[in-house]
Amino acid sequence: MPSTKPRPSRRITEPSGNAARNRDASLNDTAYAAIKDDIISCALQPGEEISEAGLAARYGLGKAPIRSALMRLRQEGLIVSRGRQGNAVSAITLRDVQEIFQLRLVLEVTAVRLAAGKVDAERLRALNKSAHVGYSPGDLQSETAYLRANREFHQYVAEAGGNQRLAALVVSLMEQHERIVHLGLALQRREQEFHHFHDDLVDALIAGDGERAAALTESALRGGQKKVMDALASSSSQIGLGHIDLSS
Ligand SMILES: [Zn+2]
Repeated sequence: MPSTKPRPSRRITEPSGNAARNRDASLNDTAYAAIKDDIISCALQPGEEISEAGLAARYGLGKAPIRSALMRLRQEGLIVSRGRQGNAVSAITLRDVQEIFQLRLVLEVTAVRLAAGKVDAERLRALNKSAHVGYSPGDLQSETAYLRANREFHQYVAEAGGNQRLAALVVSLMEQHERIVHLGLALQRREQEFHHFHDDLVDALIAGDGERAAALTESALRGGQKKVMDALASSSSQIGLGHIDLSS
């Protein structure tokens, strides 16, 4: 016999090697994407307590992928640890809203300035057309479809600028902003406003006019911030314990 090595005594009950690693990684990604979608759409509400067992049952997945997903979501700030009580979906405070808009102003204005003249006109027009889909405020499916198309449009613009780190931050901030939208604070009857902004932005980016693209983005973000802050002020009686609850 060529080999004198002893056989491993460990009983192998799991598929081993690359296949198992790939399967685990893909289950981890599935759990991560599913939980993240539900946090962004507020199906899992801000401040809601969650357990590994509860999530495993909800998504029909094992505890290991759930645990791995929770670790990633904690790093992104969408989940917070409550020590022995487990985990909770992170709350949305007034301060979060202000911080998100402040950062979007800095990053997105820079991103569009960088993207001016570097976009593929045909691709940008196609993405803008998709972002023109309608939605009905309060209808989760149509809001989600609209927001996804909107995010893809802005993600393309940010990536066209060529700074990948900046683009990743822009996308992450948009995801955080979408939670605020899904709480019902930002989408009320603003379709026309969004469409005009997008069309003007597309023209400026294709024309290579970075200053105009920056000015349009800044004014759209400031307008959005005002709407959200007004909505928050008028629902302030429902803000309690550090999270906004507009479920009633
Ligand atoms: Zn937009």
